[in-house]
Amino acid sequence: MKAMVLDAPGRPLVERRRRRRRLQAGEVRVQVAACGVCRTDLHLVDGELPDPCLPVVPGHEIVGTVIEAAADVPLEPGLRVGIPWLGWSCGDCDYCRAGQENLCPEARFTGYQLDGGYAEEAIADARFVFPLPAAYDDLHAAPLLCAGLIGYRTLAKAGAARRLGIYGFGAAAHIVAQVARWQGREICAFTRPGDTAAMDFARTQGACWAGGSDEPAPEPLDAALLFAPVGELVPAALAAVRPGGTVVCGGIHMSDIPAFPYELLWGERVLCSVANLTRADAVDFLALADTIPIQTEVVPYPLARANEALDDLRAGRLQGAAVLVPSHG
Ligand SMILES: [Zn+2]
Ligand SMILES: [Zn+2]
Repeated sequence: MKAMVLDAPGRPLVERRRRRRRLQAGEVRVQVAACGVCRTDLHLVDGELPDPCLPVVPGHEIVGTVIEAAADVPLEPGLRVGIPWLGWSCGDCDYCRAGQENLCPEARFTGYQLDGGYAEEAIADARFVFPLPAAYDDLHAAPLLCAGLIGYRTLAKAGAARRLGIYGFGAAAHIVAQVARWQGREICAFTRPGDTAAMDFARTQGACWAGGSDEPAPEPLDAALLFAPVGELVPAALAAVRPGGTVVCGGIHMSDIPAFPYELLWGERVLCSVANLTRADAVDFLALADTIPIQTEVVPYPLARANEALDDLRAGRLQGAAVLVPSHG
């Protein structure tokens, strides 16, 4: 089966033919129909994430069909499933026992320590795959699996905040904005200064205000969600939230946060990050995505053009989410 493989950080992915391995107990083999391209993949390829298991097949927004299941797995071949970032957790440590498997020190992640979905087929632990709502076709379901899921966890950290600022209006933001609007919240979208296309896109996704991240918020925010990996945005967002407000950093990697005066944090403002996801997040979010439903904006690329998709994401040329589609030819 064909796969796009990362041999070393800083190098382009290479197309390889890989031998199928036998399934181990608990595993399923999935024929990949679509795999979303996430900013985390960019951080992986650029060498910004520690200790990847190289060589690795990136990709953790996998939509596919079960084609083989180990004898002990109750999933039937033919079932459509999604495979997200969290590929395995120990189930036994204090975090796992407390419902925080996202923080499990033994956790293994898809497309990072486990081969992911930039391929014709993927293998996953069946306990970490999820049936997907039928209302979404393969292409449009893919961004739900990370942009949606981790975006949802980020939004949840904002509690009951009514007026939300969203910094960085890409794949995660366009899904979160729709969920937040459905929940009756107001969205202010902050994009790269001068990026009028992104501002227009944010407005079409329900933002009541869109401007550059160098502009002040039109009114004090109850919470701010940061999806752009830019440390300078942390003090900017703290300045934009009201006393008691929350700033949530939703990405896995960010450039250094510059020093800022304590008065930006003073007033019981809260600054926190979101790490990974739990299976409970996936169950909750996919049920919500079925109810709303969310219109995901996707830009399809043939699997072999994964490097181009990553370049377009890096350059900010995408509106919505890039999704790789294998040809199975
Ligand atoms: Zn654990
Ligand atoms: Zn991701």
